[in-house]
Amino acid sequence: EFYLQQIRQQQHLNAYIEVFEAEALERAAQLDRNKPIEQPFPPLFGVVVGIKDVLCYEGHVVSAASRMLECFKAPYSATCIERLMEAGAIIIGRLNCDEFAMGSSNENSAFGPTLNALDNDRVPGGSSGGSAVAVQAGLCMVSLGSDTGGSVRQPADFTGVYGLKPSYGRISRYGLIAYASSFDQVGIFSKNIEDAALVLETIAGADAFDSTSSPVPVPAYSKELKAPEKPYKFAYFRDAVEHPSLDPEIKAALVNKFEALKTAGHQVEAVEFPLLDYIVPTYYILTTAEASSNLSRFDGVRYGHRNKQPVEDLADFYAQNRSEGFGPEVRRRILLGSFVLSAGYYDAYFTKAQQVRRRLFDQTQLIFKDFDAILGPTAPTPAFRFGEKKDDPIAMYLGDIYTVFANLTGLPAISLPIFWHSNGMPFSLQVMTNRFEELSLLQVSASLV
Ligand code: GLN
Repeated sequence: EFYLQQIRQQQHLNAYIEVFEAEALERAAQLDRNKPIEQPFPPLFGVVVGIKDVLCYEGHVVSAASRMLECFKAPYSATCIERLMEAGAIIIGRLNCDEFAMGSSNENSAFGPTLNALDNDRVPGGSSGGSAVAVQAGLCMVSLGSDTGGSVRQPADFTGVYGLKPSYGRISRYGLIAYASSFDQVGIFSKNIEDAALVLETIAGADAFDSTSSPVPVPAYSKELKAPEKPYKFAYFRDAVEHPSLDPEIKAALVNKFEALKTAGHQVEAVEFPLLDYIVPTYYILTTAEASSNLSRFDGVRYGHRNKQPVEDLADFYAQNRSEGFGPEVRRRILLGSFVLSAGYYDAYFTKAQQVRRRLFDQTQLIFKDFDAILGPTAPTPAFRFGEKKDDPIAMYLGDIYTVFANLTGLPAISLPIFWHSNGMPFSLQVMTNRFEELSLLQVSASLV
């Protein structure tokens, strides 16, 4: 009842696309009726969770914030949602985002943007903007998002909450509407590290329905957060901190933090990373290629919006359905993706980008031979104003420079909201560790905040 009231009071933020009001109350009542007499309670007993509208929840609409799926009801639940329910959670509603998780500002939602609760003229980030604002404004306890190229960490950074993207394969993608399958990962928004750890250990782990989910065992993260104090070896990319697009106040805050860590006995070293300017192009070539394939199923026959007007032939029917169902950014990416995969361009773009991706991964492995974690910014600027970048897709894409690296390499990464800008907005320190080292990621993070 408390959260439903908060949601009503903050309706102008447009964080939820749909609130499951009656159902959430019934679920809460049912949990109360069946309350275990003795401890331990199920780990998320009565925890109120909001879910990004790209996660299937059986019997509920899942729209991907698109007209294309406006009326589509999920026939089954995502594995992560099943696991939340088994752990006693209450799913309170589905959260706004950029259409098909494509965007960095929530301005691409077919249902209007979510507003940043700290400054309603500023974007909440994207694509999981609704999930970030729901936690920021206290409209649920924790929320789920998806992170293909920063969509959990960047909105967490813009709204001042914690945003965790686990390793690729750590959480099953079964029931997550695909954007770019080799990048997509479910992520968690929370007010602190403990909550993120608890949700992660509940939903992570192998799943027979997703062959890319990892069999690596899942530790009890929340119980092992407090690691024995020891000096850590931190790396940061010199080219990232020196990058001309980085806001000077963010740079200064990072440099100060590095100095403070050194004073506290840790090692903090700059490593060269000359590939930095290639990662945004590599990301957009590979993800649009995968998107053009993944989104081909939304043709109005198998899935999605169906045009009611007379058509010439089948090709025209598809074209009508897709032109009406998809917004401009999604159409742009499908075109880009089809282009980079087309005969004659495939090797120049797609194959090349895959080679860069491999190089990035190899370089990371070298770094983790010598270091425990990589530190850096999450985004080059704090939350920008609505409209500032909307008509300049390249400027919008370049804002992803610090986040897409973890998705290209499959690393776990977290956004820690520990800084404030003089413009009144928060910003984060981003931490990355090697693949499947979420435990050390969370332990290191606990020592950094
Ligand atoms: N800004 C990234 C993009 O537009 C974020 C995508 C994501 O992580 N879902 O592709």
